[in-house]
Amino acid sequence: MECFSLLRSDVPAFIDHLGGFGEVVAPHSKGEVSYTFEVVKDSSQVILDYNRTLLPLKKMFLPPVETMLNFSLKDASFTPVEIEISPRLFFGVHSYEMQSILRLDHSMLSGKVESNYFRRRQSSRFVGISFHPDEFHFSESVGITIEEMEGFDLFLNEIEGDFQVYVLSKNGAALLKGFEYIESTNPEVIEGRSFKKKIRYHYNRLPRVFQYAYNSPIWAEVASRCVGCGACTLTCPTCFCFDVNDEVTVTAEDGMRQRSWDSCMLAAFAEVAGGENFREKTSNRTRHRLFRKFKYITDEEGLPWCVGCGRCTAFCPAGISLPDIVNELIGEDEKAQLPRSVRV
Ligand code: SF4
Ligand code: SF4
Repeated sequence: MECFSLLRSDVPAFIDHLGGFGEVVAPHSKGEVSYTFEVVKDSSQVILDYNRTLLPLKKMFLPPVETMLNFSLKDASFTPVEIEISPRLFFGVHSYEMQSILRLDHSMLSGKVESNYFRRRQSSRFVGISFHPDEFHFSESVGITIEEMEGFDLFLNEIEGDFQVYVLSKNGAALLKGFEYIESTNPEVIEGRSFKKKIRYHYNRLPRVFQYAYNSPIWAEVASRCVGCGACTLTCPTCFCFDVNDEVTVTAEDGMRQRSWDSCMLAAFAEVAGGENFREKTSNRTRHRLFRKFKYITDEEGLPWCVGCGRCTAFCPAGISLPDIVNELIGEDEKAQLPRSVRV
């Protein structure tokens, strides 16, 4: 694998160079303590050291609200909305975020292909960057290291403030072509980056833990603290549930069909005609959220559908921590396996 050294001070020039491929999207500051992926207008404003963005990169492939078609009630006709596609390069992406896109690929492209997602995905390039885990990241526990490079075309690994640039695909090599401020170097192994937050078991063991966790009292305990706001799922990079609504204009002559993000943590998510609700209790919704991450899809695909970004914990107004819930379920499972005489 080819590797080059890049000075931190040359990164803005590198981003300008990458702009030759197409629109560059990268992390920017939002307010005083938050970050967001935005189109680069001034490369000096791109943030290289950030913990996580508010919304995941998913928003660029599955927008929060998208008009699918326009319709006319006058003649009962409709016109699908054609999206405009142009090449886009995503710069400064963390490994767990890239892994979330690979999981979304499975969700959107297996079986019936979601065509808008597919077209946006086809015209994309990804340049990764290493990060320093904070108190919420736990991606290593779900099999994703800081330096996991799958899916990237180029990857910037920070070494003592500057970077080593790994070339990971033919597209990555093409992106580097013509950029002068790099020098060939030998890849270095970085030590000392560790995760503060951990799930106690290897992720392979979690489906078994969840198999016996369906009737756990932990769901009701977590639900007693949850305010049902939906922030955990709406900021999750691997959640993809959506709602479809028809909006009719005031003249009632025409309108549009829109798709918008939805959340299984919202009370109305599983409500059906007649007012029945399949997951009326918050405890049922909480359980469903975690089973979606560690059991249902994992049984089929062999991977957790959580990438350990920590957003659901960092942005939860009630301070509910997903890895803490999983560790509590592990503790309960261990206790259940002890002989009855020694259980406390
Ligand atoms: S973000 Fe927290 S409070 Fe809001 S629905 Fe999720 S777990 Fe409940
Ligand atoms: S469940 Fe939480 S930690 Fe896991 S990917 Fe979703 S937001 Fe990130």
